[in-house]
Parts: sequence; C-alpha cells; structure tokens
Amino acid sequence: MLILVTGGTGYIGSHTCVELLNNGCDVIILDNLVNSEREVVDRIAKITGKRPLFYQVDATEAAAVDAVFSAHPIDGVIHFAGLKAVGESVEKPLAYYKNNLLSTMVILEHCVKYGVPRFVFSSSATVYGENEVPFVETMELKPRSNPYGETKAMCEKILSDTASRNPEMSVALLRYFNPVGAHESGLIGEKPRGVPNNLMPYVTQVAKGLLPELRVFGSDYPTPDGTGVRDYIHVMDLAEGHLAALEKMGRGVHIYNLGTGRGTSVLELITTFEQVNKVKIPYRIVDRRPGDVAECWADVSKARRELGWTAKRGIAEMCRDAWRFEQLHG
Ligand code: NAD
Ligand code: UDP
Repeated sequence: MLILVTGGTGYIGSHTCVELLNNGCDVIILDNLVNSEREVVDRIAKITGKRPLFYQVDATEAAAVDAVFSAHPIDGVIHFAGLKAVGESVEKPLAYYKNNLLSTMVILEHCVKYGVPRFVFSSSATVYGENEVPFVETMELKPRSNPYGETKAMCEKILSDTASRNPEMSVALLRYFNPVGAHESGLIGEKPRGVPNNLMPYVTQVAKGLLPELRVFGSDYPTPDGTGVRDYIHVMDLAEGHLAALEKMGRGVHIYNLGTGRGTSVLELITTFEQVNKVKIPYRIVDRRPGDVAECWADVSKARRELGWTAKRGIAEMCRDAWRFEQLHG
C-alpha cells in the first residue's frame, strides 16, 4: 500500500511512518513544517532503512495538494496535519478553525477526486467533553470548552457525511487518549516548541533541569489521590493502531478509541517516572487548570474486537522512552 501521511514529520505522524515502513507500506509525507522539522525524515530513514518521499506542502492549499495526488497512486491517507494546542486555540480560534477544517476538507476532496478508498483521521478524546468515564464510542458528544475540540468534532461530522455519500470509502475516526513516550531508538519523539502544556514533556524537561519544578494542577478532584486521571498511551501503540485501522476497517465510517483502558493519576505518573528513570521530579500542588476534567479514560473493547488491536506498553515504558528521547534529542 502507498500511504499519504499528512503531518508525517510531527510527533504521532513520524512514529506512524516508522510503523508503516516497517510493515511493508510505502510512505509519502506531506507537511508544511509549522510544528516539526525536516530532519525527522532522515531520522525515520535511519530507523527503518527506507526513506519516505517528503513534500513541504500546506494541506490547505488545494493546487499543491492536487499535484501530490495526481503524481502518485495513493491507496490510503492518514490525516494528522493540524494545530493542536488547546490554549492557543482559545486565543486564535479562527486560525484553528481555518487550518484544521480546511486541511481536512482539501485532503478529503482529493481522496474523492482520485478515488482513494481509505481515510484515517486523528480525532481526540476531547470530543467526549464532560461525559462519564469510561468513554465509549457510542456516547453522545458533549460540547467542548475550546475551539480545538470543536474542530475535531466538526471534522468527524464532515468525514461521516462525505463517506455516507461515497459508499466505496472506508473512514476511521480514531479518538486518541493521551499519547506519550517515544520510539525506543530515542531518534524521534515529542518536541514541543516553548514551554510544554502537556504533562509528560513538562516532566521530562523538569527531569533535565530545563524547568525548575512541575506544577500539579489540582489535588481535590474526586479521584483516588485527588489529582487528574488520564489514559496515557505509548505513541508506538498508537502507531500500531493506525496500521490496524488501515488494514482491517471495512467500508463506511468507523469510530475507535485508541487508549489503554486504564487511568493513571498525575502523582502516579510522577512516581513511576522517578522510579524507572532514577531521577527526582520536584513538584508543587497548585490550583486546578481551567477546563480540565477529573478523569478521562477509554473503553477500548471496540478496537480490540474489530481491529484486533490493543495497547501493549505500560506507563513504565512510556516514562523510560520519553526520558531517553529528551536526553538524546529533546
Ligand atoms: P504535531 O504538531 O507534532 O504534528 C502535526 C503536524 O502537522 C506537524 O508536523 C505540523 O507541521 C503539521 N501541520 C499542521 N498544519 C498543517 C497544514 N495545514 N499542512 C501541512 N502540515 C500541517 O502533533 P501530533 O501530536 O503529532 O498530533 C497529530 C494529530 O493528532 C493532530 O491532528 C492532533 O490534533 C491529533 N491529536 C493529538 C493528540 C496529542 O496529545 N498529541 C491527542 C489527540 C489528537
Ligand atoms: N497536568 C499537570 N501539570 C502540568 C500539565 C498537566 O498537573 O504542567 C495535569 C493536567 O491537569 C491533567 C494531566 O496532567 O490532569 C494531563 O494533562 P495534559 O495537558 O497532558 O493532557 P489533557 O489534560 O489534555 O488530557
């Protein structure tokens, strides 16, 4: 299969490219490098021994996208390209709606035009909003408190409506929980620009001494130790989930949670990180972060049943691999 990976030099995209190449797929990466570096292509080639084709193209630019589709017989698309910072989306809603909606529409339009039968979309657990855990794919989606989450819900709708008019298409809407960790080589991983917003990259930067301490946002949630609970998933497990979706999904629209089905609190994650990596993470408990939910974890039975996929790696591996990448290339 020849797979077009938009956002393929980004965090999740790069790991998925490795998984695809290691499993016999050919890969074309399309990325405008707004949040990643060209060097990632070399790193992917170093890990796999195969070099993906790379186009520095903005997925919102129809003419440039058309040139890529017309030049290659693409069998499937995985659409990672998008802006993802929740806080920034509140500051710049129009930039988020424009980039995330338009890129999805332009890529989808070309899949229809060129008869590309498979489309895999990066959605997010954020679409569930304030629902009861565990989150199940059949739940009614609640409103989100930020434009980023709204773009994901809107893209899901656009893809579903389009697929229902194009019965030859297979569309997977993959709702990621909290991707963390890195490839075990330490060559690729998560490299946020500026001060990280997410827990794991913040922890690795504290461990490295780049930041003085972690602020734990709230210890009065109705959770076992009072801190927020999330379903962290190793990015290589997530990458494997994409391959499973590409290979196994049938026609029509299919929604899958990609998580582990287990929740971990902020304090549990800190303790595991300290034990596995033999480093100290100084932290201080501060007020809750506005917009945060107490708990977020997945019911993962549908992906297991229909795709034969389950996450295999635990929190210890996630902490170990995230720290290795931070030390080598962060
Ligand atoms: P990332 O920022 O590392 O990767 C996204 C890539 O898309 C970057 O390389 C960026 O340069 C590129 N990009 C952005 N807009 C583009 C455009 N218009 N044209 C071409 N390229 C463009 O982010 P990530 O963590 O790898 O996330 C990938 C996808 O998964 C995103 O859609 C994100 O919203 C979604 N997602 C991420 C998480 C997470 O916690 N990381 C959770 C749920 C969903
Ligand atoms: N968190 C924290 N300090 C930080 C960043 C995050 O205590 O500097 C907490 C946050 O409140 C949540 C968990 O860690 O309970 C995961 O946060 P992240 O931003 O990584 O993911 P999300 O909230 O989007 O699920």
